Amino acid sequence: MSAPPAETDIAGALAWARGHIQPSDARLLLRHVCRASAAHLAAWPEEVLHVAQWRTFQQLVERRTAGEPIAYLTGEREFYGRPFLVNASVLIPRPETELLVELSIARFAAVHRPRVLDLGTGSGILAITLALELDRPEVTATDISRDALALANTNALRLGAGITFLWSDWYTLLRRNDRFQLIVANPPYIVEDDPHLAQGDLRFEPLTALASGPDGLRALAAIIAGAGRHLEDGGWLFLEHGYNQADAVRALLADAGFTHIASWKDIADIDRVCAGCWAG
Ligand code: GLN
Repeated sequence: MSAPPAETDIAGALAWARGHIQPSDARLLLRHVCRASAAHLAAWPEEVLHVAQWRTFQQLVERRTAGEPIAYLTGEREFYGRPFLVNASVLIPRPETELLVELSIARFAAVHRPRVLDLGTGSGILAITLALELDRPEVTATDISRDALALANTNALRLGAGITFLWSDWYTLLRRNDRFQLIVANPPYIVEDDPHLAQGDLRFEPLTALASGPDGLRALAAIIAGAGRHLEDGGWLFLEHGYNQADAVRALLADAGFTHIASWKDIADIDRVCAGCWAG
């Protein structure tokens, strides 16, 4: 890396960083370090950075150069209009996952106090968003990672969402008679030897949140197989899945006895969510 000057201003820091990383990434990191808006950076290019800010910024640029995802460096990512804390124990929220939220909200808009279960909650984006968007729901969220649950709990507290968190391998630690009207999950669904796992942001994300067996369907199959015991009659299961898994997920839902099975495409026009209704 080019030697940074001992002292610099906003414009100088951005110019130095552009020699190493994308300009948009540089602006995001500098905004994070200076706790400043994009407008502030644009309006005050000659503002001199504090020594500590400049040093921290240089360290973040180095880590970004080594490939670390921006969201882990800033510790935050927006989802459905709200800021969520993220760290390396959870998947980074993806815009396509908002589809699952929109579909669940549309389906449950008229339901008062729905009982909702989010399996493998990670940073808590699905559980927390549904807790804040539905009509006074009772939301339970599970994860097998205690670090993820700790982070999801912090996010719930920060955003004012009341959620029951459970450390559980899918349904195993739920009470046998616990029944929900809505179960959602964005489980791991990538094929375990998919070369993408060794590229880009995915290299830094927890493998347990990404990959699931030789066909990527292990978690989806387990969630579908267990859903009937925890859904009320007429309850719904909404699942995010991989780009080529819609047919397989629909078949799993049909085999398990679900009806009204449907699929939806994400913002990139890729089949991304499947749902089915449990008739009991
Ligand atoms: N959608 C993510 C990706 O393909 C994977 C998320 C997941 O496995 N749930 O990068």
